[in-house]
Amino acid sequence: MSDNVTKIINGKEISATLRAKIAQKVAAHIDNGGQRPGLAVILVGEDPASAVYVRNKHKACEEVGVYSEVIKLPESTTQNELLAVIDSLNNNSDIHGILVQLPLPKHIDKQTVINAISADKDVDAFHPVNIGKVMTGDYKFAPCTPAGVMYLLKASGVSTEGKHCVVIGRSDIVGKPMAMLMLHSGATITVCHSRTRDLAGVCRDADILVSAVGKAGFVTADMVKDGAVVVDVGINRLPDGKLAGDVAYDEVAPKASYITPVPGGVGPMTIAMLLMNTLAAADIELPD
Ligand code: NAD
Repeated sequence: MSDNVTKIINGKEISATLRAKIAQKVAAHIDNGGQRPGLAVILVGEDPASAVYVRNKHKACEEVGVYSEVIKLPESTTQNELLAVIDSLNNNSDIHGILVQLPLPKHIDKQTVINAISADKDVDAFHPVNIGKVMTGDYKFAPCTPAGVMYLLKASGVSTEGKHCVVIGRSDIVGKPMAMLMLHSGATITVCHSRTRDLAGVCRDADILVSAVGKAGFVTADMVKDGAVVVDVGINRLPDGKLAGDVAYDEVAPKASYITPVPGGVGPMTIAMLLMNTLAAADIELPD
């Protein structure tokens, strides 16, 4: 057991503070004669979880003074119809950020759609140009969830420099960009995935362990070094309807120096970082 008292990283609070700062920056920009930043979110089909995410994004925009346009298209929308909507948004000067809510219906090719979004308006940072920029470290838009993790660590006074950061998961939207952002911040990184040998042993060497797997209870106490920082990106729905992360929280928390809970850890940061990217797209000064 660690002698330290575990500090719980309160993402809900950190996100609320950041969103208040974002609102101030937007208001100041408009007071100075600047244009209101605008975000367009496209939702294709009726997926209930996606509808909730889109509603939350819309609400978050309204709260900070960002103009929000939600474009709901039927499941039957063809790829060409969707591409035409994106093209018109690319050319709409009221819209600075464009986001297509994933997943898309099966008859639409996700990559073709992402590629069609102007890289300058791609606030999810999924466009290959923006992925490349994240690789080089010279980027305007960082992918929202990994950027949210970096923000949480910084806001909690956790430095990544020189630390061994182990990321479990190698997806394009979480694991890979997470590793890149940590690398740029001076960490030594290891990316683990479903083929990793001796996963528990690798994780036990982590000063900072980030789990983005999508399996409840996956990270157990025997995988965590005493005093490690544990960041839980996972969002899993339990049979009783409750949300849980990847980390077996009750057994891991006593060993960790810092830990993010689920819900209320990384989750609330993702939308805050989307707002940050929308401000960046509109060339508005970003808050700390
Ligand atoms: P994904 O399914 O694309 O990737 C999961 C990764 O876990 C894969 O790279 C896979 O190799 C790895 N993995 C699977 N089984 C493993 C095993 N037994 N051992 C080691 N690695 C294993 O998922 P994703 O989109 O990266 O999301 C991961 C989790 O994060 C999900 O629970 C998702 O809901 C959540 N998520 C949360 C946010 C947020 O805002 N907090 C945002 C995006 C995703």
